[in-house]
Order: sequence, then structure tokens, then C-alpha cells
Amino acid sequence: MSLMQGKRGLIMGVANDHSIAWGIAKTLAAQGAELAFTYQGEALGRRVKPLAESLGSDTMLACDVEDLDSVDAVFAALKEKWGGIDFLVHAIGFSDKNELKGRYADTTRANFTRTMVISCFSFTELAKRAAALMPEGGSLITLTYGGSTRVMPNYNVMGVAKAALEASVRYLAADYGPQGVRVNAISAGPIRTLAGAGIADARLMFNYQKRNAPLRRTVTIDEVGGAALYLLSDLSSGVTGEVHFVDSGYNIISMPHPDALKT
Ligand code: NAD
Repeated sequence: MSLMQGKRGLIMGVANDHSIAWGIAKTLAAQGAELAFTYQGEALGRRVKPLAESLGSDTMLACDVEDLDSVDAVFAALKEKWGGIDFLVHAIGFSDKNELKGRYADTTRANFTRTMVISCFSFTELAKRAAALMPEGGSLITLTYGGSTRVMPNYNVMGVAKAALEASVRYLAADYGPQGVRVNAISAGPIRTLAGAGIADARLMFNYQKRNAPLRRTVTIDEVGGAALYLLSDLSSGVTGEVHFVDSGYNIISMPHPDALKT
């Protein structure tokens, strides 16, 4: 199979080989996609470079979404290199670790704003620039989590940002649909990554989902990659504005299974 043959796109959010964006990149490359990567700062850049090279990519661009000049430089470089792109993966999130514990009610204005800009609004800013390079259509995805619609202890302001991100997916899908640009989100179950480790009691949350999800396990970055392949390839040509769960079915459960309560 080479479902991505002839398609070129940008992967944003690889920090290391545990990153969800890395699982997606591997899957897309295996299906023939040509990839460009961004990295946040030189230290992460040194980790991302060999990973990108191992997938045959020679395009690594520095980008911090808080710095719009760096965002513009990325899309200028892609325009120069390829003329246009076919897809974008946004796997970026950040909030102050000190506020990923305790009560949401205690979130500060400064961290609320920063979390929203990096974890939510950056997708809107990137979508605008990506869509401008997709005159014949394309596909954009972002990563979200079920803490957007249901309260997850310690997830706090990230949950609020993910709710706004999911709403953005729907509005962007409506805005760019007439141009043939599709916009979707993958809602992944908990995965051990750098960002995931910032949430207090992450291990507890991980084990709880493992016990209570219908599949009785958590998901891998490769499984998220499979869903991304579907959403970024022509397999999903009729799908836009969706939040697609890759969480071993955890989101459908109301009460833990009695077996789990006994342990
Ligand atoms: P990760 O730490 O590997 O990736 C997070 C990425 O965000 C890093 O590459 C980091 O450099 C980037 N980033 C943060 N601030 C940035 C900024 N200002 N500019 C540019 N890049 C910035 O962790 P991950 O778990 O792979 O996270 C990827 C996405 O998946 C995030 O949106 C996260 O919320 C989401 N997600 C994660 C889980 C999980 O359990 N790990 C579950 C559902 C959704």
C-alpha cells in the first residue's frame, strides 16, 4: 500500500521518539508521504534531526508557535521548497505544570492565556497558513483529549483549551470546506509522553483507563498513526469537522466495570 504517495506535509510536535507526532510521521512515511518537520528550540532540534533523517526528510524548521515570525518563516520555506502542501499535523500542547494539578478554579489569567494560545489558537493560525498552500485541497489534523468534555482530575485548563480546540476544528472545517481542505481532530487516550508526564497523577490516570476501557489497554502512538493515516489520506475524503477517538473505547464508558471495582 502507498496511500500517501505523492503527498507532502508538515509534522509539528515531535519532541522525541515517544511523541504522538512521531507515531504519525512513521506511519505516513511508510505509506510514501514526503515530510517536513518543525522543532521547538535547538535542544529538541538535536533530538528531532536524526528522527527526521531516518524517514528520509531533509526539511527541519525551527518554530515556536508563540513567535508568529517563526511560524511565517516555516510556511515561506515550504512554499519555496514545494510550492504547496497536502497535509498538516498539529500535535502541540503546553500549560504550566504547576496548574496541571489541584483545582481548575485556581488557574491564573497568565497561564490560561498562554495555554489557549499555544494549545488552541496556534492551530487556527497554522490552518490559515497551511490552507493558503492548499489551492487544490488538503487535510489538517490536531490532537485532543477527552478531558475536553468530561472532567479529568488535574487536566484543568488543558481541558478547557481542548474544548476550544475541538470547537475550532468544527469552525475551521466550515471555513475551509469549500476549498476542499478538511479539518479533523484525533482524541487520543493517555500515552506516556513528555507532555503527558506534566499532568499530576498521570500514572494513575493511565492505569485507570487501562482497567476500564473496553479494550482493557491503553493505545500506542502507532495506533494514533493509523487513524492519522485515515484522516490525512483520501480514505477519509468525505470526512471533516470530526473528533475521532483512539482511546480503546474509554469515552463510551459511564461506570467502571464491576471487575475493576473489585481490584
Ligand atoms: P510531546 O511532549 O511529545 O509533544 C508536545 C509537543 O508540543 C512537543 O514537541 C513540544 O515541542 C510542542 N510544543 C509545546 N509548546 C510549543 C510551542 N510554543 N511551539 C511549538 N511547539 C510547542 O507530547 P504528546 O503527548 O505527543 O503531545 C502531542 C499532542 O497530543 C498535544 O496536543 C497533547 O495535548 C495531545 N494529546 C496527548 C495525549 C497523551 O496522553 N500524551 C493524549 C491526548 C492528546
